Amino acid sequence: MCGIVGAVAQRDVAEILVEGLRRLEYRGYDSAGVAVIHNGMLSRTRRLGKVQELSSALDETPLAGGTGIAHTRWATHGEPSERNAHPHVSEGDIAVVHNGIIENHSKLREKLKGLGYVFASDTDTEVICHLVHHQLKTADNLLAAVQATVKQLEGAYGTVVIDRRDSERMVVARSGSPLVIGFGLGENFVASDQLALLPVTRSFAFLEEGDVAEVTRREVNIFDVNGNPVKREVKESEVTHDAGDKGEYRHYMLKEIYEQPTAIAHTLEGRIAGGKVLDSAFGENAAEFLKDIKHVQIIACGTSYHAGMAARYWLEDWAGVSCNVEIASEFRYRKSHLFPNSLLVTISQSGETADTLAALRLAKDMGYKATLTICNSAGSSLVRESDMAYMMKAGAEIGVASTKAFTVQLAGLLMLTTAIGRHNGMSDEMEAAITQSLQSMPAKVEQALGLDDAIAELAEDFADKHHALFLGRGDQYPIAMEGALKLKEISYIHAEAYASGELKHGPLALIDADMPVIVVAPNNELLEKLKSNVEEVRARGGLMYVFADKDAEFESDDTMKVIPIPHCDEFMAPLIYTIPLQLLSYHVALIKGTDVDQPRNLAKSVTVE
Ligand code: GLU
Repeated sequence: MCGIVGAVAQRDVAEILVEGLRRLEYRGYDSAGVAVIHNGMLSRTRRLGKVQELSSALDETPLAGGTGIAHTRWATHGEPSERNAHPHVSEGDIAVVHNGIIENHSKLREKLKGLGYVFASDTDTEVICHLVHHQLKTADNLLAAVQATVKQLEGAYGTVVIDRRDSERMVVARSGSPLVIGFGLGENFVASDQLALLPVTRSFAFLEEGDVAEVTRREVNIFDVNGNPVKREVKESEVTHDAGDKGEYRHYMLKEIYEQPTAIAHTLEGRIAGGKVLDSAFGENAAEFLKDIKHVQIIACGTSYHAGMAARYWLEDWAGVSCNVEIASEFRYRKSHLFPNSLLVTISQSGETADTLAALRLAKDMGYKATLTICNSAGSSLVRESDMAYMMKAGAEIGVASTKAFTVQLAGLLMLTTAIGRHNGMSDEMEAAITQSLQSMPAKVEQALGLDDAIAELAEDFADKHHALFLGRGDQYPIAMEGALKLKEISYIHAEAYASGELKHGPLALIDADMPVIVVAPNNELLEKLKSNVEEVRARGGLMYVFADKDAEFESDDTMKVIPIPHCDEFMAPLIYTIPLQLLSYHVALIKGTDVDQPRNLAKSVTVE
């Protein structure tokens, strides 16, 4: 979740490093720092806050040097502060940046203190630099010292180490947190995400789990977990979307909400023909993998989990297979039952979500028949380690609160429903109806975006509220959950979602005039039941906001505001009803003046568990 950038070059690299950090800035972090080696001296600048703080400090006092490392931190151990910011330094010689968590840091800290090392921060990371320093007393070189160090680490790390006494190289190591090497001309780089390095190179090699690499200006030598030299394929980056700018939009989140028609059109491109979803949408050999599937286990976190929840209704109803959906951090730490002919589906925007990745690895050990990831990041760990991948093609999502990734995930999952369904009795007519619905989604989303002004007005009612309740039924229940999550993420209003049928089993007790109730009410067979739930709320003096199909016959009155939603078929309804809920949370946050794109305490790509 933090950002790492490193360089070995002939030219001064501080500016390249800081630009790299800026490109990773959207992930959310609390402090930033850089260290470079110049004439055998290590210089370091760190700042609490945004990369701009670091950049201004460097404008005032520039750092020269061709070998350096930089980091944006998302604190896990020790408060966000300058002294806890990376790079951490040992004895003025070794500098280290680290993404992840060292779980056995307390034990290592005690041991290192016993060896005379003095700790300058509260981070778990600092043990790495002292360990390397200590190992160097006996190891032949920095590479050997890092190899000996990582053997002692438990937990997750992507780390880069430099030594002021040997300015020719950096040594990098990966276990649980992504790292990519960038190849330049007479200079080489490393980063936690290729986005950081796009201004300097487009040639990349992704390190694999357990890899340690020595990077000099002219050479990159990679060693696997057993210390054997290995080659990792060098690929030209296909990333066409740059982290870019916000264009005419005030926030990335708003831009991304408005990009949804295009993002959905992109994800469908070349994947539907003759009323059928092409198996190739899920990667090579997908037809072979999908044909005998009888059970689907979906694993995800956060917003992606809600997409999976919606897909469960579809897979069981239309594709004729059983389906479970589970939060990755739960699945990975419990013993679960493996059903015969099970497909494991992971969903993750970044493809690096630590818990989801761990769940995938566990599932492979358990003997799942096949694994598929629905992912927005080519070359990510989930894509590389799964049998199949549905590449979302949503373009870079910068806002920490996910919007377009969610709706594109829904579209991808609907496609998966047909690809599995056709082997389990889904009729051609049904598949044609679903593909037709998919193809008309971009235009319908465009129409839903037309509600923006009306929703901006509505948002004023929420600005002074501390709680909100979201209700939905059937496949709109996960949409209510996603609506509640968006509201809490960016406006910090406590919001909960309930399946409407659960209302009288508890949450009804909360209803009063200070608790707005948001109801998602498409015109489906559950409408009449939902209407009864609405009456239950009304009878208790609750204030309701009903997002309803325009034919659903809800009327606004003193206790209820009805927001008519364009009529849409059952396949696309969850996706379409998501749009007004995204807009609602955006406008509430705007009125409250919160940091829409980088909400407090959150990070974009959750690479630590
Ligand atoms: N665990 C480390 C710290 O708290 C690294 C956090 C990160 O990944 O940014 O400093």
